[in-house]
Amino acid sequence: MSKQRRYIIALDEGTTSARTLIYDCKTNEIVNVVNQPFDQIYPKPGWVEHDPTEIWAAQYSSLVESIARSKIKISEIYGIGITNQRETVIVWDKKTGEPIYNAIVWQCRRTTEMCEKIKRNVSLSHKIRQKTGLIIDAYFSATKIKWILDNVEGAREKAERGELCAGTIDTYLVYKLTEGRSFVTDYSNAARTLLFNISTLEWDNELLELFDIPKCMLPKIVSNSEIVGYTSLLGNVDIPISGMAGDQQSALFGQCCFEEGMAKCTYGTGGFILMNTGDKPVLSPSKLLTTIGWGINGKVTYAIEGSIFNAGSSVQWLRDELHLIEHASETEAIASSVPDTAGVYVVPAFTGLGAPYWDMNARGAIVGLTRGANRSHVVRATLESMAYGSKDILENMKKDSAVTLKELRADGGAANNNFLMQFQADMLNCRIIRPSSIETTALGVVYLAGLATGAFNDLKHLEETITFDRVFTPQMDEETRQKKYAGWKKAVKRSLAWED
Ligand code: ADP
Repeated sequence: MSKQRRYIIALDEGTTSARTLIYDCKTNEIVNVVNQPFDQIYPKPGWVEHDPTEIWAAQYSSLVESIARSKIKISEIYGIGITNQRETVIVWDKKTGEPIYNAIVWQCRRTTEMCEKIKRNVSLSHKIRQKTGLIIDAYFSATKIKWILDNVEGAREKAERGELCAGTIDTYLVYKLTEGRSFVTDYSNAARTLLFNISTLEWDNELLELFDIPKCMLPKIVSNSEIVGYTSLLGNVDIPISGMAGDQQSALFGQCCFEEGMAKCTYGTGGFILMNTGDKPVLSPSKLLTTIGWGINGKVTYAIEGSIFNAGSSVQWLRDELHLIEHASETEAIASSVPDTAGVYVVPAFTGLGAPYWDMNARGAIVGLTRGANRSHVVRATLESMAYGSKDILENMKKDSAVTLKELRADGGAANNNFLMQFQADMLNCRIIRPSSIETTALGVVYLAGLATGAFNDLKHLEETITFDRVFTPQMDEETRQKKYAGWKKAVKRSLAWED
């Protein structure tokens, strides 16, 4: 590499804040992070919105501030990558660029009834699953776009006349950065809309008709690593926007899970597991989601995805509701102070259970209590529940994809917990690898953007740049593993169908 310094910028637009990270290609380190939170809007119970102009203002100001703080030269920027909260949609006027409604956020449940109606048609639901890899749910973008067209005055007519644009956050940010010159989305974001056929890699006409969405409002689909436009907002040098990916797929790439059978688990508020399944989509009988990991140079890599609704949030519950701890990090020492949970299991089904149980009426449970059960046992059982939840998903991924899990790469706040990581290795009977940098989501698009502009040569080059903080190897014997896991399954049974 030449003497000139090279930096890649990652724009990480999340659900609660917009961040900018600057990556130094010479030291392979993130040198600066600027975080800019924005408001959450709750117009009605179950509805969640963001103000798109606030998202853009937060993203842009964090970008400008991070460049100023790190004192890099604009000419040293070798590309911008964008990663984003997935499924959230914005509809805006093509001419003015003005949004016609707030962004409807992935968490928003306003279109549940619309989805329930479609679901009643079993053969249609099956077809949608075949085409998109998803299940019909208000979570995904299609019904959110339809809601805007049906509820904002004049929107449908304008859309049909080709005067409106609809897009996920990646699309909106590129549009703003290029001042309307590029209107694009990438495979990984498109794969979360319920409108994209993950086999043909195109918007699906039949689905567009079903959801009553004119095709002319949708962006052009591009790969995850290519120059999609240039921004001239930062000075007199045009900077290429050269990588895009939805947050979870970006983390999978940032963890260098490039080969079939490699998986990552993000232990954040919730838990997100994605496994690389290679060049073919695997439709999961366990209702895990099939998605596109990334497409680079004409080659598409698929992934299978499962999520745990409550992971780190159960540690917050120990802290804020039960007052058993003051800080999340205390749980490691408390859990390690006892040899086991003394038969206690905590099932954190506070909001129902997702994959593979899919029971919205399940509720949380603490079972197996005896007179000797104490605080340490409950804390330990709560940490263990995260590992059991991940095992539930990974076991199904292995079964559905017939792919062998090679190792699990961990990130997210709770991945800092050594007890949890060791217990996870024991439960899965495979190595858990924790990278040195916890910024795996941003790293994913740094890599994708840098590959397209020549800052990185190839995937092998990237594998060589990442460093690991710690590797956890399984130490539990098979009999103990099976006994503990059977106890978890029994505990889960007690929590199912609790609400009528
Ligand atoms: P998110 O991005 O979803 O907000 P983070 O990746 O920042 O989440 O992780 C925060 C979550 O991780 C919180 O729910 C917190 O309770 C949990 N957490 C953080 N540190 C630890 C720890 N050392 N042990 C267990 N849980 C932790």
